[in-house]
Amino acid sequence: MTGKTSFDAIVVGGGLVGIAIAYGLSRQSLSVLVLDEGDIAFRASRGNFGLVWVQSKGVNMPAYAAWTRRSSDLWPDFAAELSEETGVTLHYSRKGGYHFCLTEEEFRQRDAMMQRLSDATGGAFTYSMLGRNALVDRFPEIGPDVVGASYSPHDAHVGSLQLFMGMHRGFHARGGTYRGGSAVADISRTGPDFAVTTRDGARFSAARLVLAAGNGTRALAPMVGLSAPVRPQKGQVLVTARTDPFLDVPTALLRQTGEGSVLIGDSKEETGFEDSTSPEVMRNLAARAVATFPRLAGLRAVRSWGALRVMTPDGHPVYAQSGEMPGAYVACLHSGVTLAAAHAGPMAEAIAAGTLPDNFQSFSPDRFGVQSH
Ligand SMILES: Cc1cc2nc3c(=O)[nH]c(=O)nc-3n(C[C@H](O)[C@H](O)[C@H](O)COP(=O)(O)OP(=O)(O)OC[C@H]3O[C@@H](n4cnc5c(N)ncnc54)[C@H](O)[C@@H]3O)c2cc1C
Repeated sequence: MTGKTSFDAIVVGGGLVGIAIAYGLSRQSLSVLVLDEGDIAFRASRGNFGLVWVQSKGVNMPAYAAWTRRSSDLWPDFAAELSEETGVTLHYSRKGGYHFCLTEEEFRQRDAMMQRLSDATGGAFTYSMLGRNALVDRFPEIGPDVVGASYSPHDAHVGSLQLFMGMHRGFHARGGTYRGGSAVADISRTGPDFAVTTRDGARFSAARLVLAAGNGTRALAPMVGLSAPVRPQKGQVLVTARTDPFLDVPTALLRQTGEGSVLIGDSKEETGFEDSTSPEVMRNLAARAVATFPRLAGLRAVRSWGALRVMTPDGHPVYAQSGEMPGAYVACLHSGVTLAAAHAGPMAEAIAAGTLPDNFQSFSPDRFGVQSH
């Protein structure tokens, strides 16, 4: 670390959301410090599934549907530039994504939900519902219990650890300063600048402050007159041994990575700050995966983990600038992979200009009845 203590911007949290915004701010030629509690903290960024996922996002909030689609459209250029700049292979691929349905009832509900999303976006979200015959043509190995699927061309997937590493490298290459082991304990405002003090007593200042500390943001936001009503929500993931390529597109339940292993996992549990794995959930994941692609029954499971999502009460992001302390922002959300391109692009550009992207009022935490000032 350098001895520098004054920056154009400080980002609190070095997970996927914080580092994407920090990388974007450094692309705007700002001097940026990331203060990150580090690996001992709960980090959704190291345990996620790697989907750049549009279908199902924002059915009840058109602004979120539009923001997600914007990010998905920015992703191809973002991935190409990040790879070129850092030399990191992201394993990004956008051939659309599938949500397989194992019962007729599931298929009907999925169809209705896709239709609602299409209506909510004035038809900008495009999809198709595929019956079993169409699926068998596309995926000859599909299991006998699969009745159909929704398909959306907007969906993609990426190696999420490669993305995480790539953005950290890009940030560093552009002169950004990352300070690990630096839990922020206090924030105050002195003149035009925020003074940020870490638990170990180090003090830094900047005119712009972004709180993107995942589930840690809840405690920090009130220090700048904002609220971030997030809670942890556990997801478990099962990983198989590498196998020959058989699935070149992501699905909501499983995807084959660039290295050949299969990630399986879409569970959701309310367990507080507890991230262990459990045999029941693993059995359920494995059973549904095998029902979808019977060939998976022959593969060894080599790894599993639990990780904590950063969940708001309605599942949609919270983005806000403080009215009481302009220049301070919060960004907390699920879907940090999907939204990485938007965070490094339009979000960082807006924050560098002292604002938020247009039409962002819907993302304010005020919608939960907690007034931020
Ligand atoms: C099982 C699972 C599957 C997922 N799948 C997908 C997917 O397919 N696609 C997708 O888009 N998203 C997915 N996600 C969500 C995605 O991983 C998260 O949106 C993203 O990781 C959240 O990033 P974050 O930076 O907000 O939080 P985190 O990754 O939790 O990072 C927060 C950071 O803040 C730091 N911190 C906390 N408190 C402080 C403090 N006081 N001071 C300084 N630093 C602090 C922590 O050390 C940590 O590094 C998934 C998540 C899970 C758990």
